[in-house]
Amino acid sequence: MWKQYRRAIETLQALILTGLPFLAINGQSALRFDIPTLKLYVFGSVIWIREFYLILGVALFFLLGIAFVTVIFGRIWCGWLCPQTVLLDLSQSIAQLFGTKKLKKIQIFLLIPLSALVSMTMIWYFVPPAETLKTLFVSTTITVFFLVLWIAVFLELAFLGRRFCTSICPYAMLQNALFDKETLVIEYDVSRDATCMKCDECVRVCPVGIDIKKGLNSACIACAECIDACRVLSEKRGMPPFPNYKGRIVRPKAFWLGGATAAAGTALFLLLWSRPPVDFLVTRDNAPLPSGLNRYSYTIYNNSRQPLALELSSPERVTLIGEHSLLLQPFSSMHGRILIKATSKVEQLHLNISGGGISLNRETVFL
Ligand code: SF4
Ligand code: SF4
Repeated sequence: MWKQYRRAIETLQALILTGLPFLAINGQSALRFDIPTLKLYVFGSVIWIREFYLILGVALFFLLGIAFVTVIFGRIWCGWLCPQTVLLDLSQSIAQLFGTKKLKKIQIFLLIPLSALVSMTMIWYFVPPAETLKTLFVSTTITVFFLVLWIAVFLELAFLGRRFCTSICPYAMLQNALFDKETLVIEYDVSRDATCMKCDECVRVCPVGIDIKKGLNSACIACAECIDACRVLSEKRGMPPFPNYKGRIVRPKAFWLGGATAAAGTALFLLLWSRPPVDFLVTRDNAPLPSGLNRYSYTIYNNSRQPLALELSSPERVTLIGEHSLLLQPFSSMHGRILIKATSKVEQLHLNISGGGISLNRETVFL
């Protein structure tokens, strides 16, 4: 039965999504967007908001991945992995343990703590779990976000539920545009219609309330519940189920779409992990200053997991006025200003940062 596999995958998905913020790599959550510093911690590395090429790379990878999965596997995401489906299915399965009477009421009751956990998990992708738990009901921002998300998630799951999939979800609409005639879908075998018992078990179990016998329906979330329901009856008659998976997975489109997704993922990985551990930007400030005196703004990004002690210097015969012994925490940035005083003629100025095996040099003008 597909249901057993779906529940196993859904449980694994729920555990991964809830557990990921707790997985610390190089001292940071495996995946978290830090709002105050606008940086994304991603599996032991960091992407700064200024690194548009990496953000575009991530977006391209996901777009190709979505196209690949949808064209080849149809609505597999909707029926097997979407958090909305997972939460509704798991709460329904737990509710069934208490019997089938008042199933809907028990499910709604279970959705109250589940929605709270979802709300908390969403916050963990922005604020570290330990900090969230410490500041919940202490910090107004965290508390308000938690309560608003909790209520919104609960109302959506309890009262909109599967109707979200059929009427609002933008991914559902996009999928219809991506399907081709060989995409994996769940289809009723019309050629055997004469032997179908018309018992409508397949309709009764359908979570979106459609009749698969009437042909492909864009509301179908490919959950395979109708296959399982029909199989129970058909197997007694020595027949395969009437609704079943139909489509072709191994075909040229699968290779080139899968290849493009893998290439984008590999390029992104190489771009991310081949970046220098430290980046150093220098600009000259335009504010008028006495002759022989220039002011520069600098920014240093520490992309590494090591704290760095750096020394700011210049090989020219100039005097640096300001802090030039700098300490950068792992995955942090530092903005600063420094005055440079020259007693002899200098046209091009070089500014260095060095320390901890790092030596970077930037050239700028001196007026
Ligand atoms: S469950 Fe199977 S046999 Fe019954 S109506 Fe549906 S397709 Fe026909
Ligand atoms: S038709 Fe079948 S696969 Fe589609 S949503 Fe209904 S039960 Fe799930």
